[in-house]
Amino acid sequence: MKQRIVERVVSPMEPHFVGDGFRVHNFIPSVYGLNMDRMDPFILMDYNSKFYFPPTDKPRGVGVHPHKGFETVTIAYKGRVAHHDSSGGGGVIGQGDIQWMTAASGVLHKEYHEEEWSKQGGDFQMVQLWVNLPKKDKKSASKYQAIKNEDVKRFRLKDNQGEIEVIAGEYKGVAGTAFTFTPIHMFNAKLRKGGKVDFDFPADYNTALLVIEGDITVNGKEKAPTNHFVLMANEGESFEIEATKDALVLVLSGQPINEPIAAQGPFVMNTKEELQQAFRDFNAGKFGYLED
Ligand code: MN
Repeated sequence: MKQRIVERVVSPMEPHFVGDGFRVHNFIPSVYGLNMDRMDPFILMDYNSKFYFPPTDKPRGVGVHPHKGFETVTIAYKGRVAHHDSSGGGGVIGQGDIQWMTAASGVLHKEYHEEEWSKQGGDFQMVQLWVNLPKKDKKSASKYQAIKNEDVKRFRLKDNQGEIEVIAGEYKGVAGTAFTFTPIHMFNAKLRKGGKVDFDFPADYNTALLVIEGDITVNGKEKAPTNHFVLMANEGESFEIEATKDALVLVLSGQPINEPIAAQGPFVMNTKEELQQAFRDFNAGKFGYLED
């Protein structure tokens, strides 16, 4: 097995606010030159690094907005998010939980800090990913997979070095519970200081790491501190992470869909025509109605 090397370590760019509740560093696509297709099928990554929100009676967040043609995956590391959608669905993404929302044919929703959490305030830390869908699946019905932290499958590393939470895909025989339309591995690697773990993905799978907590060294040489993004090259298969401090690392690897991407705002289709149709459908009220 050939070693997969680091292509680049990317430091977080200046954060911006999405609504008034999500203070995010964008990593994909980004001004640093990662286009939407570089990490295909992961076409967007917004990262709310740990940030303190003071108490408020009026929950902060993002009002009603649509999505179509892809999936949003929200991983809550700190804080709680409540969501509601135009089909009457809703729920709370608690600390350690994952929400995998298949927007596909279209959904209208809103995302706010959960009310009770907002009243207390606190540190908030979260990742939102957009996972693209192949053309044949963009018309699927929308749905949610609410994955509670206690239901996440875990692989325990030997000698108390830590554990791998398998959200999707598979790690050394432990399969994640998330259903995915295309082959995707998504893990939270929790490592104690000095802990080492190896990963092995097909060379063509686009692969990256996001350091949520602590510091790591990749392949014994490249250092990546907290809040840094590590893009792995598409050569070789296996690589190793070592925690130089207690660490939490989001590990992403996915088989590229390799279809044209036509994206604007909250819609991701294959052609400009489909994009225009999505805007017409949205403006005609075909995504339903949701009170703000
Ligand atoms: Mn949204």
